Amino acid sequence: MRWSQTFVPTLKETPAEAEIVSHQLLLRAGLVRKLSGGLYTFLPLGLRSLKKVEAIVRAEMDRAGGIEVLMPALQPPEIWHQSGRYQTMVDALYKLKDRAGKEWVLGPTHEEVITQLVANEFNSYRQFPRNFYQIQLKFRDEIRPRFGLMRAKEFIMKDAYSFDVSDEAAMASYRRMYEAYTRIFARCGLRTFPVEADTGVIGGNYSHEFMVPAETGENDVAYCESGKYAANVEKAVSRGPLLPTPVVSSGATPEKFPTPGVVTIEALSKAPYQIPAFQQIKTLVYRIDSGIALILVRGDDHLNEPKLISQLGSNAVRPATSEEIFASLAAHPGSLGAVSGVPAAVPVFADLALQGACGMVTGANEDGNHYRHVDIARDIRVTKWLDLRTVQAGEHCVETDLPLKIRRAIEVGHVFKLGTKYSEKLNATYLSEDGQRHPVVMGCYGIGITRTLQAVIEQCQDKDGIRWPLSVAPYEVCLTPLSVAPQSPAWQLAEQVYRDLELAGIQVILDDRDERPGVKFKDSELAGFPVRLAIGEKSLAKGEVELKPRGGTLEVVKVEDAVRRVVEWVTTERAKYVI
Ligand code: ATP
Ligand code: MG
Repeated sequence: MRWSQTFVPTLKETPAEAEIVSHQLLLRAGLVRKLSGGLYTFLPLGLRSLKKVEAIVRAEMDRAGGIEVLMPALQPPEIWHQSGRYQTMVDALYKLKDRAGKEWVLGPTHEEVITQLVANEFNSYRQFPRNFYQIQLKFRDEIRPRFGLMRAKEFIMKDAYSFDVSDEAAMASYRRMYEAYTRIFARCGLRTFPVEADTGVIGGNYSHEFMVPAETGENDVAYCESGKYAANVEKAVSRGPLLPTPVVSSGATPEKFPTPGVVTIEALSKAPYQIPAFQQIKTLVYRIDSGIALILVRGDDHLNEPKLISQLGSNAVRPATSEEIFASLAAHPGSLGAVSGVPAAVPVFADLALQGACGMVTGANEDGNHYRHVDIARDIRVTKWLDLRTVQAGEHCVETDLPLKIRRAIEVGHVFKLGTKYSEKLNATYLSEDGQRHPVVMGCYGIGITRTLQAVIEQCQDKDGIRWPLSVAPYEVCLTPLSVAPQSPAWQLAEQVYRDLELAGIQVILDDRDERPGVKFKDSELAGFPVRLAIGEKSLAKGEVELKPRGGTLEVVKVEDAVRRVVEWVTTERAKYVI
């Protein structure tokens, strides 16, 4: 491709709208342009890289036994009602009406559509296992679309769905996808690590997210340096808080004491009260389905909402409003507690770290008053003990006892064992050998193609621009003649080398613009082509050209060796991404 015949609108300045480096580089290297928040047009270079990521994903899905299909983005809401997700995913669903006033939804994901297909097309155990996948647009009404392609309203996903006749077979499908994902990201030149992930209301233990370590990620991951444990903080566990919960009772019974104006754990931990946070009980009030519940965690802990959701098996979970709280407890947030004044119908869910806690301080359910000397086993009616706390850095790993670390990361892929949730709701069943009908056992597996592309940039860049891994670079080679005057030796050699490289199957962009060398060099570095071959008049006079790998050292090459050397360089580099 000739630079002048494509469209590469590079920018010198960093656009103010872009907060993170990969978003800045997407714009500066002329890969995408914004239409509106969360909606982007792919320009030629961005599109070429996107297609390469897609091709890698497709090749590995095919290799793992996937069957490619393409499902509609526009979907009838009936199947969403049938699965129950019309309600639970309502915030993410884009809905629209047709001319007859009938409602439609734009698919944020495709479990419903594929499960309906399988329900209609398959009947016997002999027809399984199957794994269908597609590479398609998804639409999600995100609360905060941001960071360019990272969190968009419309994005491209590879989604796959496995269908099996037993749990063991479903696990084998899951493992096959897990391995395919490992290969996919490695082939994209992306360093990822799998972490245990929250399974939400579906439950079960089989869900992993593939994470890219990055400060700009939106996930926190707890991990052990031994490599034996890594989990999304939404799901992570540890051996417990570093400061042990006091468990020796003084024998004293709960005593009310005035705490005028004190409504935070922190205020109570300061003078004149001086009650350390770990000796306090934090009482939160949640609305769960149609009822109110009290949630207790230690004062220095944070409630982990995803844990609450997955353990209660309900998606309809939210903090209660002050009105709802006052209506059921007759007190305001800041003075709440579970010792007295809790109606019998209100369940109390307490975090395991509070088990056996003695001498605790908690709200008295009366504004301006707290209780001390609270022994939880004696003084609080706990309906259920649950793991509800968020792990903190430094706590000990359940596998190795080493201190856990926490780092930020970007989720690029997700594998999930679904079980029979969707097959039951959408009647995807099979007849087993003995003539019995059973729901098919499912798994689902997503990769954000557009997010993965941007994650590569986030990971592979320096002060000069992008440093594409060869496998996903828009072009492998940038050929840069420093003169484009038709009769100049540099231009004539460039034309020759360009033809030879194309014939050799090398993807090359010829920078035929009549620009200063500095501009051309800067642009090729910004756009991140893995290697540049510069042909300047001065070196040409000595019979030489210059090969410069992006971020590497310059190599002087004899004119007659130029094509051979570039082909060799590219071939060696390509081999690194063959897995
Ligand atoms: P997140 O937690 O980031 O919102 P998710 O868990 O809702 O993502 P999944 O439903 O698991 O996402 O989707 C599979 C993949 O699709 C994700 O791993 C991610 O790479 C990608 N993805 C999800 N939402 C978006 C989005 N709004 N923009 C771009 N990519 C996305
Ligand atoms: Mg996910």
